Amino acid sequence: MALFDFHTHTTISDGHAAPLEMARRCLENGYAAYVCSDHVDETTVDRRVPEIVDACMKVSREMELPTVPAVEVTRVPPERVAWVAARARSLGARLVVVHGETLGDFPQPGLNLAAARCRDVDILGHPGLITEEAAETARINGIHLEISAAGLHGLTNGHVAKMALLVGAGLVLDSDAHRPEALLTTTRARQVLEGSGLDLEEVGRISANSPFEILARRGIELPLPAKPS
Ligand SMILES: [Zn+2]
Ligand SMILES: [Zn+2]
Repeated sequence: MALFDFHTHTTISDGHAAPLEMARRCLENGYAAYVCSDHVDETTVDRRVPEIVDACMKVSREMELPTVPAVEVTRVPPERVAWVAARARSLGARLVVVHGETLGDFPQPGLNLAAARCRDVDILGHPGLITEEAAETARINGIHLEISAAGLHGLTNGHVAKMALLVGAGLVLDSDAHRPEALLTTTRARQVLEGSGLDLEEVGRISANSPFEILARRGIELPLPAKPS
């Protein structure tokens, strides 16, 4: 099964490896695409999105791996999330993750709901103890909730999975890798999803469908391996 990961960082923001290094490991691990989604906020969005777009073009030239320029809107006040997401998109980011109310950080109350209301957002990253209202709003707007393979961000994976199933919102697994070693493998991906309390049928369904739903919503077509039926 093709491996996807919509949330990774590089030296463009606070990652520890250059985009080419990250992409090389993605290729080795069997990723179907490389999604570079470095942190942006109101002050860095204008500078970093062009860097992310350039990095993706460079990777595409160097290796046989489709790339998708993306961003993680990070530490932006709830009332400014929509502006930064739209700005990132206008500069070339094709997918937008929002750094949600993770317990691994100092969550800003209201951030999950603000992100869930924003139709420029694709993934509500590590949304911590997300409320039913925010999960339901995400579902209505076609935004996927993230199961995180990254340290403290994953503390609430069980809760996030439960809320998504309760309201019928989409779930997606991401690494939030800041170094190549933290990128997903097929085994790791399955383990983290199962560790979130999902049964094998749900794990299979999420792995097979969510990435394609996220890409299709933005009309992103990649030369992908055949979708498992
Ligand atoms: Zn984050
Ligand atoms: Zn991140």
